[in-house]
Amino acid sequence: MLSSINPRNGTEIGKTQIVSREEVYKKVALAREAQKEWGNKPIRERLHHLRNLCHLLSEKAESFSELIMQETGKSLVDALTGEILPSLFWIDYVCRNSERLLAPRKISSGFLFSHENVVTFDPLGVVGIITPWNFPVYITLTSAAAALAAGNTVVTKPSHLTPLCILKLEEIIEEAEFPPGVFQVIPGDSTTGSALVEAGIDKIVFTGSVEVGRKIAMECAERFIPFSLELGGKDPMIVLEDAPMPRTVHGALYGGFCHAGQICMSVERIYVAEPIAEKFVQGVVEETAKLQLGKEISPIQSQEQLLKIQTQVQEAIERGAILLVGGKRVDSPGNFYPPTILFDVPENVALLKEETFGPVIPIQIVKDEEEAIRLANASSYGLTASVWSRNLERAKKVAEQLHAGSVYINDNLTPAANPHAPWGGVKESGTGKQRGEWGLYSMVSVRHFGWNRFLFAKDPFWFPRTKKQEKLALSLIRGLFSRKFQDKLAGLWDALKAF
Ligand code: NAD
Repeated sequence: MLSSINPRNGTEIGKTQIVSREEVYKKVALAREAQKEWGNKPIRERLHHLRNLCHLLSEKAESFSELIMQETGKSLVDALTGEILPSLFWIDYVCRNSERLLAPRKISSGFLFSHENVVTFDPLGVVGIITPWNFPVYITLTSAAAALAAGNTVVTKPSHLTPLCILKLEEIIEEAEFPPGVFQVIPGDSTTGSALVEAGIDKIVFTGSVEVGRKIAMECAERFIPFSLELGGKDPMIVLEDAPMPRTVHGALYGGFCHAGQICMSVERIYVAEPIAEKFVQGVVEETAKLQLGKEISPIQSQEQLLKIQTQVQEAIERGAILLVGGKRVDSPGNFYPPTILFDVPENVALLKEETFGPVIPIQIVKDEEEAIRLANASSYGLTASVWSRNLERAKKVAEQLHAGSVYINDNLTPAANPHAPWGGVKESGTGKQRGEWGLYSMVSVRHFGWNRFLFAKDPFWFPRTKKQEKLALSLIRGLFSRKFQDKLAGLWDALKAF
């Protein structure tokens, strides 16, 4: 049995039955059966259900957010702007664009002038979606809406910490009159997740930690199941000396402390140019001191996570980092940790190398942008990064040199809600893309159909092998790819004769 605990006050808000391995297999079999009809429906019909879902979600935004707040500890604003709104933007994008993007497409026949070619975008079958606790609804819908529009059916395993939100989503999806078996939820733990990977599905989309992502990649590789991994981050923020103030200070606080830093793309390192460092650090410290636990700062989801944050901060301080604000747990109900700023953190401590997933920002002074770029890239992660400067051209040049899936200028977090933009990290932050047209294409099998319009007895290179074929092949190569125009002409003329 899973117990959902409100991290704000430690009270239990509900219990959920764990789905057994046998039940996971049954649900996948039902999804496979349902897919036959769902995948054969005209895309417009499938989109009609998604449009319904969009309307229902917007009507239920406030009541659904109540549950999201209770299970994740988010504030109402964070639930509305981080879960409901981006989900609506994405479903709306899918409804507006997938019919066009997924329509069969004629492609060029190249030099095979007698041929015609078409590419189709067919459903993969059953897509398994495994999600983390921090954005249960948005992350589930990001993959599910694309998968469903493309004609797949979905079986999803929510985090053991947030099953109620996704069971509620299943209810709303039922209300949107999706046929039975098209979207199913399997609450459970890591065993349930493993069972889903083993149950004969056609793709896994996993969002979560690097550690579990690596295991899933290996299990998928054994079974040749395509997978996409959306993993953790250690996202750097580069503040150049001409950064816009006070926006950069407020941006640092939002990027680092929104949802208490429990966002994959939270700002987890700041590199600030020397000339502006004092003003920037002073601003950040002053503004951080104004933030209130329970209002701006959400609770930490679990005791285990709280301990990890404390350990990283403690180690950094013991190794010489300067604590500027926060750093000590206050005695209060719920798992709260104060917003914390550390300065001059030694390079090889866990706080600078591993994901913290808490409201902690280490700030380092850099002498120039080269040093900022070098330090920002010195990480095994590469999810997002941000550059802050009034000089857009300069900021773009810095941005281009950062190893990350998304780089934002004078902004953070919010641009990731753009449904047109691709989402997905590099290095240990993952592989594969979600959202935008890339998200839709990640949910299809791309197939090529080609046919010859002329039904001659034989084509030029069919059997038997002859000298004439050799001459034809060589003439074609010369005719198509010679440097000089005369050689091309001669080659084509020879090819024509041989043909
Ligand atoms: P987690 O890796 O602990 O769990 C994620 C999911 O995997 C859960 O549903 C869990 O039950 C399941 N799971 C665990 N072991 C499994 C196994 N062996 N086989 C199959 N499934 C298994 O992550 P979490 O603590 O829920 O979430 C936090 C992490 O997620 C952070 O690292 C964060 O950065 C990352 N994250 C990444 C993105 C992104 O888009 N890149 C978004 C949100 C969160």
